[in-house]
Amino acid sequence: MVDNRQDPLRLPTARPLDEADIREFASNVRGQLIRPEDDGYDEARAVFYGGIDRRPALIVRPKDATDVSRVVALARETGIELAIRSGGHSVAGHGTTEGGIVLDLSEMKALEIDLEGRTAWAQTGLTAGEYMAAVGAHGLATGFGDTGSVGIGGITLGGGVGYLVRKHGLTIDDLLAADVVTADGRLLRADAKTHPDLFWAIRGGGGNFGVATRFHYRLHEVDSIVGGMLILPATPEVIASFVAEAEAAPEELSAIANVMTAPPMPFVPPEAHGQLIIMAMLVYAGEEVDEGERAIAPFRALAKPIADMVKPMRYPEIYPPEEEDYHPTAVARTMFLDAVDLPVAETIVEHLQASSAQMAVAQIRVLGGAMARVSAEATAFAHRKRRIMVNVAALYERPDEAAVHEPWVRAFAAALSQGDGGAYVGFLGEEGEERIREAYPGSTWERLEEIKGRYDPTNLFRLNQNIRPAAQPTSDAVS
Ligand SMILES: Cc1cc2nc3c(=O)[nH]c(=O)nc-3n(C[C@H](O)[C@H](O)[C@H](O)COP(=O)(O)OP(=O)(O)OC[C@H]3O[C@@H](n4cnc5c(N)ncnc54)[C@H](O)[C@@H]3O)c2cc1C
Repeated sequence: MVDNRQDPLRLPTARPLDEADIREFASNVRGQLIRPEDDGYDEARAVFYGGIDRRPALIVRPKDATDVSRVVALARETGIELAIRSGGHSVAGHGTTEGGIVLDLSEMKALEIDLEGRTAWAQTGLTAGEYMAAVGAHGLATGFGDTGSVGIGGITLGGGVGYLVRKHGLTIDDLLAADVVTADGRLLRADAKTHPDLFWAIRGGGGNFGVATRFHYRLHEVDSIVGGMLILPATPEVIASFVAEAEAAPEELSAIANVMTAPPMPFVPPEAHGQLIIMAMLVYAGEEVDEGERAIAPFRALAKPIADMVKPMRYPEIYPPEEEDYHPTAVARTMFLDAVDLPVAETIVEHLQASSAQMAVAQIRVLGGAMARVSAEATAFAHRKRRIMVNVAALYERPDEAAVHEPWVRAFAAALSQGDGGAYVGFLGEEGEERIREAYPGSTWERLEEIKGRYDPTNLFRLNQNIRPAAQPTSDAVS
């Protein structure tokens, strides 16, 4: 195979920022600058996952797209590593850098809702929970994931698999346009008509193509739902039947089964603590409460629930407040499966029971529905026909435990593998190029390399699940 990728040597060799760089830069931006000697530096450099302890030379919180463009220029001119952070939940810790610049979008949270047109323009410093609280006040929703503190930046660019996946598809299926600052510093509007190649690539291709400053989303009427947490005992039979019920359920219902050891939480009766449970999250996003209750009934009938908190609620309530200082250390592996039948469920139970981690989990997400009706070529997320996504993870306390939990995760993932695994880019850790390629099957990878070559030929945006730029004829520059 011909390797037509170019070495990213056209950026200057990285050099440390000096006082003159910082002074000049500071005089040109409106946003906040935070340096190692400043108060609040340690808080500002922290990301969601624990065990990621990097010390950036500069953290910038831009106020607007012009500031973003200036940060991009500083990285381009100095060659210094640039981390882009929206909600800071990157599994690989890509929201921070050792010695580089962090572009932290958390001050850019403007949201304009067009109630009549049923759309919203959202700046990318918003979290999914913040966005949902604001649009949910109008009985409207765009589908994000299962966690409110995840940034809309990272989850949208990766695809976005959540509680509305079967009813309304991925987050990117509701993305109508985006404003993107590209490597040359320009602010481009990408949509189906303008820069359609860029628009295709950012719907699943991650942060490789520029800094998204705003997204334009479609809004759906999702006011009341029947949903919440249902805890069941996790025997192999219950796990396999749960997945079968979730596949057979109406598309209004999306289900996530977290198979794990019961934590000592107030809603788990003490006798269940330490037992293997399914902590399921169910969302029925249909019109009628009765129909929702009917759709949930088969899950309740699988075994005597340990706890049942499924009820009619307003959709934003599915994102409860989170502990701000929760920074788990984790090792994880993501894959797609075709089936979770009894033998697979037995494998899941066996491996979870063998783990010594503080928390070991197999998260099973049943896909299909609206997500599967979009063609694999329509966006850079090509796993449209995959039926089930599984993430296995060990959460632990001390860094030296990694030596035990990493082989456990690898062995568990290998035992579950059903051949053509694939990967969802949003859940990839630092796992190497082979695994990044698994996120982009078929011709998706080559197309992404080619588009990367046109919009980011020097690989300025490289601290991500990186797609290296294909060499471009000079006449192919983007205009
Ligand atoms: C607890 C938890 C729950 C999750 N649940 C789900 C889920 O239910 N469904 C799902 O699909 N995913 C889920 N994810 C995965 C999540 O979507 C990805 O980790 C995502 O990248 C996080 O986005 P972020 O903005 O919070 O992270 P960040 O660390 O801020 O960003 C991650 C990467 O995305 C890129 N990026 C972010 N914002 C921008 C931007 N504005 N412009 C350009 N590039 C940008 C950068 O490359 C950055 O390194 C979950 C992750 C965690 C930790």
